[in-house]
Amino acid sequence: MRRTLAALACSALAVSIACSKPGRELQIVTDAATALGGSQHLIDLKTIVIEGEGTNGNLGQDMTPEATGEAFELFGYKRSVDVNAGRVRIEQTRTPNFVYFQGPQPQQQIFGVDGEIGYTLGADGTASRVSDAVAKDRLRDFYHHPITAVRGALMPGATLSNPRTSSGQRVVDVVSDRKIAYTLAMDARTNLPTRVVSMTDNSNLGDVAIETTFADYRDVNGLKMPFRITTKTDKYTTSDIRVKKQFFDGIVGDLTVPVRARTATPIIGPPPAVVTVEEVAKGVWFLAGQSHHSVLVEFADHLTLIEAPQNDVRALAVIAKAKELRPDKPLTEVINTHHHFDHSGGLRAAVSQGLTIYTRRPNIAFYQTVLTRPHTLVPDALTKHRQQPKLEAVDEERTLQDDTMTIMLYHVAGSAHADTLLMAYLPKEKILVEADVFSPQAPVQPYAANLIENIKEHSLAVDRILPIHGTIATYADLMKTQAVQK
Ligand SMILES: [Zn+2]
Repeated sequence: MRRTLAALACSALAVSIACSKPGRELQIVTDAATALGGSQHLIDLKTIVIEGEGTNGNLGQDMTPEATGEAFELFGYKRSVDVNAGRVRIEQTRTPNFVYFQGPQPQQQIFGVDGEIGYTLGADGTASRVSDAVAKDRLRDFYHHPITAVRGALMPGATLSNPRTSSGQRVVDVVSDRKIAYTLAMDARTNLPTRVVSMTDNSNLGDVAIETTFADYRDVNGLKMPFRITTKTDKYTTSDIRVKKQFFDGIVGDLTVPVRARTATPIIGPPPAVVTVEEVAKGVWFLAGQSHHSVLVEFADHLTLIEAPQNDVRALAVIAKAKELRPDKPLTEVINTHHHFDHSGGLRAAVSQGLTIYTRRPNIAFYQTVLTRPHTLVPDALTKHRQQPKLEAVDEERTLQDDTMTIMLYHVAGSAHADTLLMAYLPKEKILVEADVFSPQAPVQPYAANLIENIKEHSLAVDRILPIHGTIATYADLMKTQAVQK
């Protein structure tokens, strides 16, 4: 019976590389196709529209590294798929269930992928191209659905390998017709797909598995479709969709990439770093130039960096600038403001340069893991220059001091932004360095009142504020945020 089904699938596909593969791999896939509604039905399918609601997680941006309470509630979720062309467009409205830096109002999002090109549509309908890495992740996500995953394994040009049975599941590795690699698992009893797993690179977490699980299968016009679709990045849930309605081969509209995005220059890797230097006091430099800033502080016999943000490119450029400013003095340590991925994404680079990390104690265990995780898909600076991580825990406060310079580190207690926040105060210069809790020029300042409380709690005489985002401000500028909000 099984051989017959495999033969049917092959004859339907005429010439298929998958058909030339040994039988067991193909048998697993054709059994899955049969369970879903038949190989021919899958091959003939042109479009899928899935509508529902659910949640998006807040990967790398929750209150602590282990917390998972923050999410965006999704309404009006619509996923439109052109099965043949490898096109997906997602439209959704999301509302944060937490104190979000952009404010509490619902945000409409439209984004998609068309083969190798990914794009986002702005509120005014203007399309912008996303990086090739993000586009690749979205093309992987195209296959994170039973129909596209099984169909992609059946198509000519797909290769199948490593058939196995594990924990009541029949499993096979696939490289799809579009050269996307994933692992496909089926319930051994029903042969319905239970999950699709693919691997990607994350600056902070390194090699990570993206796993989508499928549940609550029901009949939809002759096909079995899951009504619960849940995706995890590593161990963090990033998407959980409860399907309300889905249909095939209906009107999906134009899913081709908008011209503006198609003709835009491809974005390969992070943008080149631009590091500007402003000496704000003797031995204190504001290193800005792009979205995430750092501050360099000079002690008698060493330099201290506040913040190694984003990724290798940014962090290594900032470290190089510090060495350029004071070539005879070693840069030995970095103060990390909090665990959020955009603020800790350069810590691996900092360790590769031998820097000791000061961070709040709740981050230590997480960073020990982050600093030793494998980065084989995209080898980073620490992979190439392996160093033993040196971590220094900060509880409620800690002082770094010698005869020439003092930095006071304080926990920003009770902030709705994160539980892991440190601010740095330079008492002689009356300078405060903080991240995310007051970003001058930001339209909303939901964390500023708490920052003021913390400044008062420690009786800090703040003159100027050096923010990790935005331009240098005064204490009066910080106080004005309260006048506006009241
Ligand atoms: Zn943050």
